[in-house]
Amino acid sequence: MWTVQQVRKGEVPPLTELEFVKATLLLANWASEDADQGIQIFYTLGLRPHGFNRWEQRTPREKISAEELRTNRGEKIFTALKTAQPLVREVLLDLLEKPRTARLRHAGKVTEWISKLEFYGIPKFERNTLRYENVVCGPVAVDLTRPIDYLHDAILPMVGWALAVLLDQNRKVGQYLHQCRLKVGDSRCQNLFLAPPTKEGGRPIRYCSDEHIADARRQQAARRAQRYRDRIASRHK
Ligand SMILES: [Zn+2]
Repeated sequence: MWTVQQVRKGEVPPLTELEFVKATLLLANWASEDADQGIQIFYTLGLRPHGFNRWEQRTPREKISAEELRTNRGEKIFTALKTAQPLVREVLLDLLEKPRTARLRHAGKVTEWISKLEFYGIPKFERNTLRYENVVCGPVAVDLTRPIDYLHDAILPMVGWALAVLLDQNRKVGQYLHQCRLKVGDSRCQNLFLAPPTKEGGRPIRYCSDEHIADARRQQAARRAQRYRDRIASRHK
């Protein structure tokens, strides 16, 4: 397939493992009424490994293909994304709460999902060290004589690779998975996110985004102000 060739020749950067994980977390957090985000998730997971550019860097031709995806196959894609979402969330929540059992419970299923993917190795020289990086090209073990089954032929194999990366104990990515604890009304945000350590010592791991860190600060300030008012009021009783 020419698009795979394009990735191999280095004309289009292949999706990195972290990009796979991030797109999969977007799916886990996806509010299914947001159609644009749904198409973006599908585009990243389903097409990028075949040699399309990053969502923000799409060429006009690729934009047309995303539009075409939405109009012609949108319903089928959304149904598949909605079916995949709870399957993905289940693995991620288990990994957060009980990592040991999560690996035992889900490794078999994830291995089956990724069995449809084609992998190849690209050499990476960093200073004097050579290592080979696994790159995913996309699902290949797909029967082209029948219409594509978006869930089993595309979405589950691709999110499966992200889940494999998270379950893998050598890669250490899974330990940076967290769930947002921001209070929203009577419940919590519950978005899943990665907080890998940075040079500055890492970002706070309680909240999923800068907006939610700011919201949490506002909530804390409001609680402090309320406690202060309560103290004043009780003094004047
Ligand atoms: Zn949040």
